[in-house]
Amino acid sequence: MPEGDSLHRAAQRLQVLVGERVEVETPHPRAAVKGLAGRLDGRRLEQVEAVGKNLLLHFEGGLVLRSHLRMKGRWRLERRGTVARPEDRGRFQRPPGTGKPWLVLRGAEHEAVLWNGAVLELVGLRGAPRLGPDILGEPPDYETMLARLRADPEREVGDALLDQRLVAGIGNLWKAEGLWEARVSPWRRLEEVDDSELRAVLEAAHMLMRTSVEGPRPARHVYRRAGRICPRCGGIVHSASQGANARTAYWCPGCQVGGNAPPS
Ligand SMILES: [Zn+2]
Repeated sequence: MPEGDSLHRAAQRLQVLVGERVEVETPHPRAAVKGLAGRLDGRRLEQVEAVGKNLLLHFEGGLVLRSHLRMKGRWRLERRGTVARPEDRGRFQRPPGTGKPWLVLRGAEHEAVLWNGAVLELVGLRGAPRLGPDILGEPPDYETMLARLRADPEREVGDALLDQRLVAGIGNLWKAEGLWEARVSPWRRLEEVDDSELRAVLEAAHMLMRTSVEGPRPARHVYRRAGRICPRCGGIVHSASQGANARTAYWCPGCQVGGNAPPS
């Protein structure tokens, strides 16, 4: 699943189109029915930003297009003409098994292509106000994140960190690694985690994700390492399903103690 840092990479690549009037096409049938091309074609692209796991494309006239990649969505930046125009229908270059692109934004020299779009909608002037503060903000708004996380004290911290209404941008990977860095068990309830610990988790997630945006991904210590040795304490990394969405938590019971962890 694309994480917030992948979205920031995409936003960086798409900056070359900012300031241009873009041709807009929606070749995929599920995108075409939204009527986006007619409303956006020929408008100037004013800003591209990643907010949490959303890419927000601001067009002149106050129109904001929200793209959420879900599990398989990908943005690619190509030279203009890489994706065939509608008159050459059926001859799109594409990754295998993906069908037609959802969205093509074509500038003078480049075109941005969205494959496997998942979520694509006009959200108006203000973007996505229901999202919590972006973990990749510079600086992140930790105070608001803490306030939102405190709203449900009985919730387990590993579950709450994935709620995009509380903190935007943390996926399962950086959740697991941030908790490990801060030595906090995902199974502790928020009321059992003090502000300095919670802030340390958020700061670790921010640092790891920021590093990943700017270069190669940092090494993993627990994520998808169940059964292997914890590099800090020599314990065995565990995994278990957590929360209403049954996301897999990874943690080391040796150095991330406490909480209502399932028995091993
Ligand atoms: Zn450990």
